[in-house]
Amino acid sequence: MSAEKQQKKTRSALDRPDLSGETRMRRYLPWRQEIELRPPNRGKAIIDNLPTVAVDPRALDIASEIEPLTVEGVPFFADFRATMWRLAIPMWRRHGQFWRYFTGIRAGATGMQKQERENRFRVGRRQVGPSELKEAIRSYARALGFALCGFTFVDRRFIGAGDDSAFPYDTAVVLGMEMDRELVDKTPSLEGPQPDFETYVAAGKAALELAQHIRSLGYRCVARVAFDMPVKFVPHAVAAGLAELGANGMAITPQFGPRQRWAMISVDAELEPDEPADFGISDYCEDCLLCVRCCPGRALSEEKMWWRGVYKHKLDPVRCWSYFSRFDGCMICVKVCPIHRFGYEACMEAYRRDGTILGRPKGIDRFLARRAARAKHQTS
Ligand code: SF4
Ligand code: SF4
Repeated sequence: MSAEKQQKKTRSALDRPDLSGETRMRRYLPWRQEIELRPPNRGKAIIDNLPTVAVDPRALDIASEIEPLTVEGVPFFADFRATMWRLAIPMWRRHGQFWRYFTGIRAGATGMQKQERENRFRVGRRQVGPSELKEAIRSYARALGFALCGFTFVDRRFIGAGDDSAFPYDTAVVLGMEMDRELVDKTPSLEGPQPDFETYVAAGKAALELAQHIRSLGYRCVARVAFDMPVKFVPHAVAAGLAELGANGMAITPQFGPRQRWAMISVDAELEPDEPADFGISDYCEDCLLCVRCCPGRALSEEKMWWRGVYKHKLDPVRCWSYFSRFDGCMICVKVCPIHRFGYEACMEAYRRDGTILGRPKGIDRFLARRAARAKHQTS
């Protein structure tokens, strides 16, 4: 593109009166001191209108444009790298799992580089139409061990480092794999494998296999798994109607509570997105807050706050990661969760009856008042 054309494009982006950006994503490029217009951000409409999370679209747009989320999920890469070498790797060694995790994660990362290098455009002949593709993906995902599978559009505000090419197509398949319940209940412990890393490795391999299957059906796709995750899983799991945002910052599902790990695949096909759901979990969280109070790293905020345009309990990732890696996996915010311990149905039945959480009635009035206030906010 000529310099003149580029300048014109940049100026028109800067001059736009509507900062919400509507559907087009804008990226600030600090090294060029320019704002670049990117393709339409199709997931925006879904995340701006989630039934269970209050979003300020304007603040979220501006934050994402000016300072995209980091890929690693912690503010500075140095923090992540330092804690990885100083804390996490010694932890894996203590567990005697160093080589398993190291090679598993390396295999996942290498597999992803390989798929990008060799397979991204090498697809088979179209075997099914887009309408059958959705069901084909769901059933293959289930066979590979993903108990949760949903569809949504990618919201590019939740792509780390603003690297849109890392997750190139608009349709996203969100995949959740359950962590081993017994291992979760034993964590933190010096004995045996760790449920989160075990599941990361298994989900990584399965997602790469599913991506290969989608290509064999004739559609281009790119899988993204943990440890190479420019795309943020939690908002997309909520957008795909699989989960709600919990007070511990995790996606909480009715099936397993917070006891799952995620992977995502970007597919070059027009697939109908699933509707976001209201399971009542975020209301339940407001009266529970057990994870917040039990967090030994004091990484979770008791009060909700506005953070990058989202109203939520803020997780401090540096505090969490430091504690997590120093104390053998922590996961206390997962194992104390009543939905993990007693199941969604039992928890919600008692809560809806008289506001009971863990055997203590907290009163239904606050629950009803919160729902009424939210309904009013949504209609205003
Ligand atoms: S993993 Fe541990 S430190 Fe991190 S948020 Fe959960 S309870 Fe807190
Ligand atoms: S422990 Fe309570 S507050 Fe935390 S995620 Fe589970 S239900 Fe929500």
